[in-house]
Amino acid sequence: MNSNNALRTGKPKDCQSCDKTDCPGRQQPQNESDDMLRQRRNIARKMCRIDRKLLVMSGKGGVGKSTVAANLAVSLALADKSVGLLDVDIHGPSIPRLMGLEGQQLVMHESEIVPIDVGGNLKVMSIGFLLGSPEDAVIWRGPMKFGVISQFLGDVEWGTLDYLVIDAPPGTGDEPLSVAQLAGERTTAVLVTTPQALSVADVRRSVSFCRKMSMPIAGIIENMSGLVCPHCNGRIDLFGSGGGEALAREMDVPVLGKIPIDPKIVECGDSGEPYIHRFAESDAAKAFAKVVERIIDGKDADDK
Ligand code: ADP
Repeated sequence: MNSNNALRTGKPKDCQSCDKTDCPGRQQPQNESDDMLRQRRNIARKMCRIDRKLLVMSGKGGVGKSTVAANLAVSLALADKSVGLLDVDIHGPSIPRLMGLEGQQLVMHESEIVPIDVGGNLKVMSIGFLLGSPEDAVIWRGPMKFGVISQFLGDVEWGTLDYLVIDAPPGTGDEPLSVAQLAGERTTAVLVTTPQALSVADVRRSVSFCRKMSMPIAGIIENMSGLVCPHCNGRIDLFGSGGGEALAREMDVPVLGKIPIDPKIVECGDSGEPYIHRFAESDAAKAFAKVVERIIDGKDADDK
């Protein structure tokens, strides 16, 4: 697949959603070959219609970042917000599987890509929908990733959203960098870690990345934070405890919440059914609801 043309669209539309004269959405390309300016204009127009973008990052793989991104998006939608979930994990997209959308085909509307509408205010887009098979390996260099992410932001028909939750691969590579450079104002990072010292140490790099990119941090989510034994109800701190909180204090970043380990999260991830839907009364679902409350409150506080 040619990443530059994979999602290429034309036809910029007047968004008129703000009156800033320096908005890239208002700049006119000088000539037909001014592709980057045209694309930046598309992105600015699309991003203007999205109130908040949440870039979900982690220092290392396997800490549950995609699981958190998917369940965060579903929880925000359940809180009556209109939500987009964008998977920019180009080398290992897991959102189609987590949301039960593997094998879905994308359709075009007036030369724009239509994200998959899963109902209940939630739309989903993933590089996984563009790959022939889930086993296909993507071998792309940085500029190709930048190209496809700019098309995800500029050429997908997101419409008006309260939140766009963006699942980035672990680390501080091309994908989070492209999002940080392209998504514009009102983009904040949500950092996911386990309480384990090893994972927490890697999140420091994510905090440093956000600071260098001048991207505000909404907070840290400590995932896999304790397990309640189903037999004796005793608590087991499989990955230690309090690591995320200690880091949050040290780095002066809020803690958004602690999500416990629940084997049913694994089961739901494998069967493609959002955990939050199936186990709405569980401790982990309640912890997600608290995270969402804090994210929404944080937004309100910023708007005052
Ligand atoms: P990442 O995106 O960080 O690589 P994933 O979201 O793919 O991580 O999660 C890795 C594994 O951990 C998956 O099998 C997932 O189901 C499981 N998992 C994530 N969070 C939890 C949790 N709170 N409790 C139990 N299992 C979890």
